[in-house]
Amino acid sequence: MKIDGPLEGHGHAGVVDVSTYREIHRRAMTDKQTTVFEVDQARAAYVNHSRWVVDCDCHGAGLARVGYPSCCFDCGRVYLRVDFPSDVGEIEALLLRRRDPETRNWIVGQTVADLSAENSEKGV
Ligand SMILES: [Zn+2]
Repeated sequence: MKIDGPLEGHGHAGVVDVSTYREIHRRAMTDKQTTVFEVDQARAAYVNHSRWVVDCDCHGAGLARVGYPSCCFDCGRVYLRVDFPSDVGEIEALLLRRRDPETRNWIVGQTVADLSAENSEKGV
């Protein structure tokens, strides 16, 4: 088990890798008559309700995964550079100890020690 990203969130649509993720996004935007456009500015990923996400300029959000771009299915943006914390594995491990997915949240700047303390407070 891990924190979810595009494979889990769009797997039902056939996303199995970067290529299918981009293709499913392109098709969805074509259906919406929305133009796909790439954004080269780095965006920071964070964890919301057990999903890695990236906020979009349109106020929507896209799912994120290390080594993947993040696609916004609201407006068509594709964030080519997504920053993850260097200790992503430790962060995921601490969050996955929490039984309720809605409590698996991490914000940029929060340390592994912070998450550990939160887990202790929650009795995890
Ligand atoms: Zn967007």
